[in-house]
Amino acid sequence: MNRMAASAKEPLYLDFAASTPPADEVVDAMLPWLRHAHANPHSEHFHGRRAAQALDNAREAVAALIGGQPEGVVFTSGATEANNLALKGLLSATGARTQLWLADTEHKSLREPARYLSKAGVVVTPVAVQGTGLIDVATLAAALDTPGPTPGLIALGHGNNEIGTLQPIPALAECAHAYGHLLHVDAAQSAGRVPLDVEAMGCDLMCLSSHKLYGPAGIGALYVVPDLQDWIEPQLHGGGQERGLRSGTVPAFLAVGFGAAATLARQRVTQDATRQQQLAATFLAALSEQRVAFQLIGHPTQRLPGHLSLRFPGVDAEDLLALLAPALSASTGAACAAGELRASHVLRALGLDERVASEVVRFTFGRSTREEDLRLAVKRTAVAIDRIHERSG
Ligand code: PMP
Repeated sequence: MNRMAASAKEPLYLDFAASTPPADEVVDAMLPWLRHAHANPHSEHFHGRRAAQALDNAREAVAALIGGQPEGVVFTSGATEANNLALKGLLSATGARTQLWLADTEHKSLREPARYLSKAGVVVTPVAVQGTGLIDVATLAAALDTPGPTPGLIALGHGNNEIGTLQPIPALAECAHAYGHLLHVDAAQSAGRVPLDVEAMGCDLMCLSSHKLYGPAGIGALYVVPDLQDWIEPQLHGGGQERGLRSGTVPAFLAVGFGAAATLARQRVTQDATRQQQLAATFLAALSEQRVAFQLIGHPTQRLPGHLSLRFPGVDAEDLLALLAPALSASTGAACAAGELRASHVLRALGLDERVASEVVRFTFGRSTREEDLRLAVKRTAVAIDRIHERSG
């Protein structure tokens, strides 16, 4: 349980896909590095070496979480930077004529670098998803079946941040490799929620975000299989840190926190996943008990544990969240897509029309979420939905 999570006056936090609170073990591990062990890990003296050792330990912990090798881990400021480094770094080094494939449901931190690269001449091809958000291997194969230079890059999210669908990465990786291409997987949402093994999954690159797995915000990593590292063109030039792939002083206290979070996640992932699945089942059962009509968006079973994307027919999601705001914090989808008038590109990619897409709310649970909180949250939701139906006659 998180020490911060106890306040009874705050609305209940049900937005763990947007960010998770740092675990107590993480804060405890970080504090000495803020209080008195401060140093630049790239300095040659005692203090610098001590910080460098802490960085090495953190690198090992992050690698262990994904079954990778420590020398494959490049620390970045988060998953956004890691996705930018993967796409721009790899494709600018392999030449402007290379190709990039992206599913229609990808996070903006993949979509926007792809848009940038397409202006520089990279051929970017969208890959359609099924109504559940799953990518069909045959659809990917058809998209890849075009003549062009190899290797190109296929960039896919593992667990979708808005709808929770989990992609069958090993099968997609096999397909990518059969066509001579490389696969980058955005595991920002799935790391710590489901077990990961970068090699067994067949990923050439993978990104992680510390603040999605109970670590501090402001740090993440790009994993690059060691053989591929010479192919990456750094996007930040300077002192040559992170084996020249990402210049800039790595903040030791953030790396230590990320490492502690990764170790905890590796130890707890199976137990956490089972509990999160139970919480999601409790939430859905309670909605049915309250006779609330709902539709689960995304895949019914191949989804992130503790992630529910729900449509309440006839209920505008923004209206519902506004009524619920004093009681609970949830979202209409991606935090970064909030405030946009148009329905999210993810929901549209599933084939939902604007009206249906405007009725979708995302509830995501975490380690501190309790079953009794969820029962109360569902009761509040049922009351709010009744009010909205009454208002609209
Ligand atoms: N990819 C996915 C799938 C995400 O959910 C997020 C965060 N919303 C990111 C990338 C960006 O992560 P960060 O906040 O570490 O930049």
